[in-house]
Amino acid sequence: MAERKESLKGSKVAIGVDIGGTAVKAALVSEAGVISHRTEKPTDPLAGTASIVAIVGEVMAIAAATDLEVVGVGVGAAGFVDFGAGSMTFAPNLVYEDPAIAAAVERAVQVPVTLDNDANAAAWGERSFGAVPGANDLVLLTLGTGIGSGIVQNGRLIRGHTGTGSEFGHTIIEVSGPLCRCGLKGCIEQLASGQAIERMAREAVVDDPSSSILDFAGSTEAITGLDVTKAAREMDATARTVLRRAGKYLGIGMSNIANLFDPEVIVLSGSVVGAGEPYLGPARDTLAEMTAAQKRRPMRVVLSTLGFDAGIVGAARQAFDKALG
Ligand SMILES: [Zn+2]
Repeated sequence: MAERKESLKGSKVAIGVDIGGTAVKAALVSEAGVISHRTEKPTDPLAGTASIVAIVGEVMAIAAATDLEVVGVGVGAAGFVDFGAGSMTFAPNLVYEDPAIAAAVERAVQVPVTLDNDANAAAWGERSFGAVPGANDLVLLTLGTGIGSGIVQNGRLIRGHTGTGSEFGHTIIEVSGPLCRCGLKGCIEQLASGQAIERMAREAVVDDPSSSILDFAGSTEAITGLDVTKAAREMDATARTVLRRAGKYLGIGMSNIANLFDPEVIVLSGSVVGAGEPYLGPARDTLAEMTAAQKRRPMRVVLSTLGFDAGIVGAARQAFDKALG
């Protein structure tokens, strides 16, 4: 997204924050979704809340120095979020020393703060300014190390009774599948994500030690999803088999989404999308086969247009929505 620092002068902005396991990112975002003054820092893995408060303070100071009025702060964070309370209820990958994140940020900067799950924020970003403008029924999947989801129905994000709904990554598609960090077995996160592709590739090169996956990675232990993608581009059969398998699981998952929500469109985002057609093709084909078998209408599957900015822009939009009613 274009950086237009001067064009925002004197106008209202919100601060959008996206915190993940390795980095916390923040920026000023205009009501039209234009990003400026982007800041990024390493996340303190034992003090997630302090990481957020610190970066918001920094961006707030930039806004003050550049004559911009901050109407609110929106935070998108990986984990189970109670949106109404503005607090984190469960975060497997990061320690939030003060789970009441919205209140902690509000105390520091004295403007309204929203806290939402990062995939929810990304879905809101894509709907507001990205791949699916104005869509009222959509599902966004973040396909990275894990799998997150943001589900919009009738123009509203679905959160469930306690805020822990919309965790598509932990729906089970293989009952005897690999153990997931959530405590269950066979979650789609263990079968179609970046970590799933890495695990499948490590297992597969045992039977095919001449695979070029190992040439890119150097050793079995060092295999990353990117090594598998590179090998697949060189038509390495084992790499393509791994990506096809993961893609098929994604297709099964999308068929489940169709049965549950009948969305207008499914938006795919996250680093695994970079694996391209060897992964996305089998996902689309599997969805199409399952859709046809049920005589459902074909479903649009599109790629994110905001990329890794979706969370920041969507969180900022949520802050605007809260501040301006
Ligand atoms: Zn799980």
